[in-house]
Amino acid sequence: MGDLEVKRAIVREQVSAPTAHSCEVLATIGRRANSTPASQYWTTYSKLTPGHFYSHDLVGVRADLLREGICPQVRLSGTGVIKGLKHNDCIVHGWPSEALVCLKFLEELSKVRAHSLQYRGESLATFGQMVFDEFCKPCDRPFLTADIRRELAGKQKGRCYVCGDDLESQGGGELDHSIPRGGRCWGSDGVDGLKYLCRMCHASKTSEDRARMNVEDPNVYMSRFSEEVWRGFVESRRPTQMVCNLNEATDGPCWEVDVRSCRLNGIVGL
Ligand SMILES: [Zn+2]
Repeated sequence: MGDLEVKRAIVREQVSAPTAHSCEVLATIGRRANSTPASQYWTTYSKLTPGHFYSHDLVGVRADLLREGICPQVRLSGTGVIKGLKHNDCIVHGWPSEALVCLKFLEELSKVRAHSLQYRGESLATFGQMVFDEFCKPCDRPFLTADIRRELAGKQKGRCYVCGDDLESQGGGELDHSIPRGGRCWGSDGVDGLKYLCRMCHASKTSEDRARMNVEDPNVYMSRFSEEVWRGFVESRRPTQMVCNLNEATDGPCWEVDVRSCRLNGIVGL
């Protein structure tokens, strides 16, 4: 582009600067958590008491209640079939004929894959959709097969890793992450990071972990000092600055400092 005229024309062209859109926060797609307990916690309905129950004959239950002068709230399915009755804190769920198939499926699935599915009396179609949604989620945790679990328990000779009690007599062991997972702790899901503990030891270890996990602030450059440390740190004289020239070889000892995480002042001062 040697032509001067073309160059001038280009210079005169209007240059538009891209403008950033104002920040927009889109609502996340979230379903309300289902507070209904899973179906294995329901009992057969016999009388009106608080809790979750199931019945094969909701129409009959409703008729009985109406005869007693109680009018329960009726929950209908999308196709207009009664799927539940509610009166104050007493909830009676219908028990669909396909329930056993769904529960058996979950039982088999639990043997081969970690999942968070719970059956709450859904129809086969809804249940199928739940399974599909679950399979679409990324599975970020390795699944511990029965063999791996047996191997782990065998390594500990069937005893609790902390107190040494026999796990079988304590109703089976519970797997514990030696370094907790979650809450800014990234314990490994690997076999080496897991130990079998008895229920009591697991409960106390978990509460200890929680106490530890909540000490650190979300801001990793902030930590807490005791008053004594704080005074010693703030009120003492400035330490002599150490300067070294890393490029010059010396015969003396070589010190190496590895700064893994420095404080905010250190960063600002850079
Ligand atoms: Zn124990």
